[in-house]
Amino acid sequence: MTQAVITSRYGDWEPVIGLEIHAQLGTQTKLFCACETSFGDPPNVHTCPVCLGLPGALPVLNRQAVKMAIAASLALGCKVHEKSIFARKNYFYPDLPKGYQISQFDQPLATGGTLDIEADLGARTVGITRVHMEEDAGKNIHGDQHSRVDLNRAGTPLVEIVGEPDLRSPAEARDYMRRVRDVLIFLGVNDGNLEQGSFRCDANVSVRKPGASNFGTRVEMKNINSFRFVEEALDGEIHRQIRLIERGEVFKQQTRGYNADKKHSYLLREKENEDDYRYFPDPDLPPLVIETRLITEQRESLPELPADKQRRYTKELGLSDYAAGVLTAHPATARFFEATVATGATAERASNFIGAEILRDLKTDGLDAQFPVSPEQLGALLALVEAGTISGKQAKKLYGDVAGTDRDPASRAKELGMEVMRDEGALEKLVGEIVSKNAKQAEQYRAGKTKLLGFFVGQLMKATRGSADPELANALLRAALEQDTKDR
Ligand SMILES: [Zn+2]
Repeated sequence: MTQAVITSRYGDWEPVIGLEIHAQLGTQTKLFCACETSFGDPPNVHTCPVCLGLPGALPVLNRQAVKMAIAASLALGCKVHEKSIFARKNYFYPDLPKGYQISQFDQPLATGGTLDIEADLGARTVGITRVHMEEDAGKNIHGDQHSRVDLNRAGTPLVEIVGEPDLRSPAEARDYMRRVRDVLIFLGVNDGNLEQGSFRCDANVSVRKPGASNFGTRVEMKNINSFRFVEEALDGEIHRQIRLIERGEVFKQQTRGYNADKKHSYLLREKENEDDYRYFPDPDLPPLVIETRLITEQRESLPELPADKQRRYTKELGLSDYAAGVLTAHPATARFFEATVATGATAERASNFIGAEILRDLKTDGLDAQFPVSPEQLGALLALVEAGTISGKQAKKLYGDVAGTDRDPASRAKELGMEVMRDEGALEKLVGEIVSKNAKQAEQYRAGKTKLLGFFVGQLMKATRGSADPELANALLRAALEQDTKDR
């Protein structure tokens, strides 16, 4: 009996990947002080004794951040614990004024979730180890001569979502990262803005022979802020590890950075274990105790999640997987689509028009989105198409006229003379004129060159500026041309 050989792009090696995702919670203020959370303001304007780590300043936990972290945990299928502990994670770095980061360690907010993914290895469920809360560090800005530090971001609330090492390919890692982001943006707890660093991940990767129970030596890729980079960085790192192992070289557990421009990774530091951080419970913060009522409240107010929405769009509304994916790529797009359908438009018509026209003109910034028209305007426009009042071509023109204004599509269609012309008497008169004006072509039509009907339709459309009802135009022209035959 021959055994099936699974060839992967990594030969006889199996990658083992787990992601740690850091997502900023979209609160107005920081995790332990009243400083505003913001992006792009002048350096160090949003700071106070607490987030500067001045002696004697005491942290006070942000209730809104806790609610958002609970929502994220529940949406990822985790169990939220009634009691969790804030700990100090000690390390020295210029962007960390206290010399420690407040995080959660052995008693995190939530544990034991799952997420369904679907990439190159098919549909699978992967595990989520834990979700915990922590504060962000500041930011070092390196110049030619000096390095400067901006502490506006220091103390911004984060959730860290630690995934199980269940991912088996870079494509799976990318899909997982995207799906976690989609969940968070549909919850409205994170703005999903990878470029600004409000959603980023560290990727742990090792390789082993398929079926092995032990893990190989693990390498951590730090601070990846793009779906494409996570795939590229992991692919490069897997190849690097295989090369080393096959050459018989031994490498140590290490942390590496990824240079996306040069597409290569570089060593940051070797070996870093949890005991290096000397964690201990923060004596300034009591245990975080969450009432069951709050957890229940958060669970009951969870919105429909993107994967469920996508499934519903295909199963109940009959849309293609592709269309459903496009409409659920941003929560505002899904809301816009649903509001358009609520005006009475068919799902298919709304989906097609949004995909073909609206998304081209949509401007998004994080969770904010600016649509060129309102769902009511689009609904009114599609109703004109549905009723046969205007043609599909006219609909695109009308959209261009209405976009960016509060004009009413129905009255604009009238003003622009766009309505389909169905006045049989008027059309018959025009048909008569056209047929006699083009006697030669009419002759050829009668002689059997029926393809010339298209020519006559074109003439009639020209005369009515494209507004003649196409079916009626065809019927009247054919009747007129054949009538002449009989008359002879
Ligand atoms: Zn502050």
